[in-house]
Parts: sequence; structure tokens; C-alpha cells
Amino acid sequence: MLKVVKFGGTSLSDSKQFAKVRRIVETDDSRKVIVVSAPGRRETKDNKITDLLYLCHAHIKYDVEFDRILGMIKERYIEIRDECALKIDIGKIIDKAFENIDKNTSQDYIASRGEYFSAMLMAEYLGYKFVDAAEWITFGYDGRVDYKATEEKLRDLQGIYEKIVTPGFYGSYPNDEIKVFSRGGSDITGAIAAALLGADVYENWTDVSGILMVDPRIVDKPKTIARVTYDELRELSYMGASVLHEDAVFPVRVKDIPLNIRNTNDPDNPGTIIRESFEDELEEEYERFITGIAGKKDFSIVNIYKNRMGSAKNRLLRDVLELFEKYDIPIEQIPSGVDSFSVLFPSECIKAKKYDLMAALRNNENIDSCDLSDGISLIAIVGRQMAYRAGISGKIFKALGDNNVNIRTIEQGADEINIIVGVFTEDFERAIKILYESFAM
Ligand code: ASP
Repeated sequence: MLKVVKFGGTSLSDSKQFAKVRRIVETDDSRKVIVVSAPGRRETKDNKITDLLYLCHAHIKYDVEFDRILGMIKERYIEIRDECALKIDIGKIIDKAFENIDKNTSQDYIASRGEYFSAMLMAEYLGYKFVDAAEWITFGYDGRVDYKATEEKLRDLQGIYEKIVTPGFYGSYPNDEIKVFSRGGSDITGAIAAALLGADVYENWTDVSGILMVDPRIVDKPKTIARVTYDELRELSYMGASVLHEDAVFPVRVKDIPLNIRNTNDPDNPGTIIRESFEDELEEEYERFITGIAGKKDFSIVNIYKNRMGSAKNRLLRDVLELFEKYDIPIEQIPSGVDSFSVLFPSECIKAKKYDLMAALRNNENIDSCDLSDGISLIAIVGRQMAYRAGISGKIFKALGDNNVNIRTIEQGADEINIIVGVFTEDFERAIKILYESFAM
């Protein structure tokens, strides 16, 4: 059994968090490959080490003295080292890393040091072998991960050392130059390691107990989603739920390795498991039928009318879509009636172009009339248990209707794992609460 385990910045912010990580790793011998982020914030006003490193780079680039920032960085690591009673001379390692720094030193190199120092400390603390990410995450010169080279190197290294700690967030080009992923990229490193080593599970430890069924700013203390499929996750994140970056799930998704999101501060909580599909659907999940609810605010609708539209509809649709393309307005939905159809899009995308777009539509001789309205918000009700089951949308609409929420638009994908309703923005939060309270409890 092999678990690849990634700990995020808040799980490594100080020695207390380091101790929690050690406890987690020690309770399960299969947690053999550990990927770490740089220390994150200890409290809201604190700084993330990675942010400080980017700041260092900016100072270096413009020839501004950066000793104070580097001092803050060093202090954090030395404090962790001392409080964890480690021997490693991290101060010296940091000095060495910054020794030959000048204007030409790449931003990526500097930013990557946060994970590098963090992994060094953690390796000693766990008694695991430190393996530099630059030794195995290999980028091609096109900036993409060279999976073949990366796999060979990682397999070799893990074959030799078995239990390793490796920094997240970066790798190297064939000429050894360091390259980082996008921010939050340690998630990607962990997913790549899990996929290439064929891990039984990829555990991603953070500061929340998994993915919540609904935005906690709207519903107080919502439930955690115990099991979610990648497709459901995609629907939820597209509709505004903050979940993992797609690049961070892709490697494990293609290998069908379960991704388990866990909370370092609540290690007994099983968190959320993400998989392609689940063989056994649980009675409780079937009964609840909703996996999660997410929503996005502030959409506008253009309504297009044409009496006896009939076969002219195709042409009209094309004309309208071409105009949206010309004005670079992304379309979200196209609900359609017999002699009319509507185009729904984010309000912010039309601001400056509003009059031009409406004038162009009015000038189209095939359109009888058109109008524009704002103030629509979309709510996605997502659940694999909704597919091919009669009566689900009825229940959803009834709950909203009984509470006097007017539904402006309705959309359901053919895979039936989501139903998206458009409501007036002033009803947005209330509608989400109603749906959660009616079906998620
Ligand atoms: N330390 C990096 C960041 O703050 C990467 C990570 O934590 O995943 O973005």
C-alpha cells in the first residue's frame, strides 16, 4: 500500500503544524511519499513564505536592499527548526541559496526555495530521505511536464529510498534551470507523484475537512461532501465552488487514483474522496440526491424575438452568436422558445459594449425586437444521484416555488448530473439556503 501525501502551506506554518504532520504520517506506515508546500500564514495578518520570496525577487530585480525580507524568511525556518529540535543548519542553507543571487537570478528559482527549505526540515523531522523536486519533476522546454522522464527519475529515487520528502511547486528543465508551476502548484506535484508511482490514494492535507456542499459564506457550517466524482467536481468548480485546480486533479484522474482531501487540524475527519465513479452508491447518498450546490452571480440576458421564427431560427442564432463572438462576450446559456430565444452571459463582459451590441442586434432585419435585462444569478444543483431519476427537478422547483423564488431560466445537461436555475440576484442567497435546507440535510 502506498499513499502519496501532500501538505499545504497552512499545515506547515509553524512547529505546531509540523508536529501535527508528523503525527499524521506516523499513524500510517503507507504514507511514504510526502510532498510539502512552503510555510503559509499562521494567522490572517501573517505572510506566506512564497509571497515573501516573490517580494525578494522584486527587490533584487530593482536593486533594492532585501535583507529585512530575507531575515523574516530565515527567522520562520529557524524558529521551526529550533522548536522541532532539529539539527539541520537551515540558516546556512538559506544563506547559501541566496549567496550568488543577482538581477539575473530567475524569479522561479527564488520562489521555489520556500518548498525546498520546508522539505529539508520535514525530512529530518520525519526521518525520511530528502529528495529535491528538481531531481525528478522534469519540464520540457515547452514548459510542459515531461512525464516519461519524470516517471523514470521518481521511480528510481523512490525505489532506492522508499520513504521520501520532496518539495512541491517546482521542477527543472533539462539544463537544470528551475521552473515553478502556477501558484498553489504543490497540489500538482503531489498529483503527479501519486499518478506516476501508481499510489493507492493521493491524500491532500489542507485546513478544511474536504469540499463543502455549499459556500460557507451563505450557509453556516455546511456539511462536507463525503464522495464526489470528477464530473460533479467540475460542475461545482465551474459554477464558483472553490476546489482544486484542474491541473492538480488531472494526473490522478487519468489513473483513477482516489484523491482524498483531509484536514491537518482535524485528522480523524475522513474528508472528501474524489473518484471517477463509485462502484457502490450509498443509500444515504441516493436519498439525498444532491452532492453540492454552487452558484455565480450577476448575469445579463438578451432576449431576441422573431414572429414565426420557424426555419429562420438557425440563421438568426448564427447571426446573434457571431455578434457575441465579435464583441468577445462569453455565452453561458441559450434558453429558447418557439419564436424567441435568449442569450445569457456575465454582466461584467458587456459593460462597455452594451450600446454597440444592442444597436447591432436592432439593425439585424430578421429580428423583430430585442431587449436586455440584468440581475440574474445562476445556481447549479449538482448530483450524480439525480441522473435518470424522475421527479428530481419537480422537487427542486417545488421547494423554490413554495418559498416564492421565481425561476427565470432552467437548464439541465443531458448527463443529468446538474440542474442550473437562473433566479433574480436578490433571491440568490435565499434560494441556495432553501435548496440546502430542503435536500442536503
Ligand atoms: N508555495 C506555493 C504558493 O504559495 C505553492 C503551494 O503552496 O502549493 O503558491
